[in-house]
Amino acid sequence: MPAAVKGSAPLYSVIVPAYNEQEVLGVCHAELRGVMDATGKPYEIIFVDDGSTDRTPEIIATLARHDRRVRAIGLSRNFGHQVAITAGLDFARGQAVIVIDADLQDPPSVIPKLIARWEQGWEVVYGRRTRRESESVFKRGSAWLFYRFLRFLAGVPIPPDAGDFRLIDRKVCEALKAMPERHRFVRGLVSWSGFRQCEVPYERRPRRAGTSKYPLLKMIAFAMDAVTSFSHKPLRAATFLGLAASAGGFAYLLYSIIRYAAGLAVEGWTSLVALLIIFNGILFLVIGIMGEYLGRIYDEVKARPLYIVGRTIGIENKTSGTARKRTR
Ligand code: UDP
Ligand code: MG
Repeated sequence: MPAAVKGSAPLYSVIVPAYNEQEVLGVCHAELRGVMDATGKPYEIIFVDDGSTDRTPEIIATLARHDRRVRAIGLSRNFGHQVAITAGLDFARGQAVIVIDADLQDPPSVIPKLIARWEQGWEVVYGRRTRRESESVFKRGSAWLFYRFLRFLAGVPIPPDAGDFRLIDRKVCEALKAMPERHRFVRGLVSWSGFRQCEVPYERRPRRAGTSKYPLLKMIAFAMDAVTSFSHKPLRAATFLGLAASAGGFAYLLYSIIRYAAGLAVEGWTSLVALLIIFNGILFLVIGIMGEYLGRIYDEVKARPLYIVGRTIGIENKTSGTARKRTR
């Protein structure tokens, strides 16, 4: 258990990223409040409105008016789930910080279990989804494949089937705040940071209301960010692919010359066309892989702020996140 919290600073911070979640925010707040009140400790709930275009900001403002433990950050536009979480972490004051989705797919009733583990001295307690029956076969299948593939590629042991629903200690939060990268895969960064980590299994429920904010394209972009920020293996694979392709090409060339010398005319442009297509395909693939990294390097070099805060409720230091500095 960390040292006593000074003054009015909360012991727990609950971060809730929300993008167009008008249907669930009320019940989300009520459930979180029930669970957090039961801990008997001071806490804050930080809603991060990720540039919602529905009534999300108004609803958050109303919640904050009625509950002084609610604080809010409104980003100036939609920056994406991972950046919204980052903004929440930047403004959190608690000794233990809990990240949970607004749609209640991750049940708030699991939070006391996370807290219990933290009290035992664990610094990262992540929820591991044991069952996700409620989600489509495609979502479950792609998630299963993604976590295994990532584990194979990444140098750090990123636990499979763990989402962003987790509790992190203040120390871990500070470590994350010092990481300036743009394309963020928060759960990977948490794994990378080390510390004492443990898991709490839970069942992922269906979304309480509203629709998923992760369409296929966003999911693919998310997966690309995860892979590129934790592995250079795709680049190396490109090298090997190129090597293998040219070795195959030379072997075939040799074979053709021998056949030609033996008087057996090399027949057919069919094989020629096939080879052309295959090698051009490989070339484009390799260029594409390089481009993925290059684009990200470009984004990093520009070093724009990770997000822009449009408005806040109950937050004094309004530039916390935008002041994220690079030290080089
Ligand atoms: N979210 C966000 N910004 C986005 C997309 C999603 O803050 O651009 C939030 C969303 O409001 C929710 C959480 O991230 O609280 C997870 O999104 P969602 O439930 O739609 O994803 P799924 O569970 O379907 O993967
Ligand atoms: Mg969800």
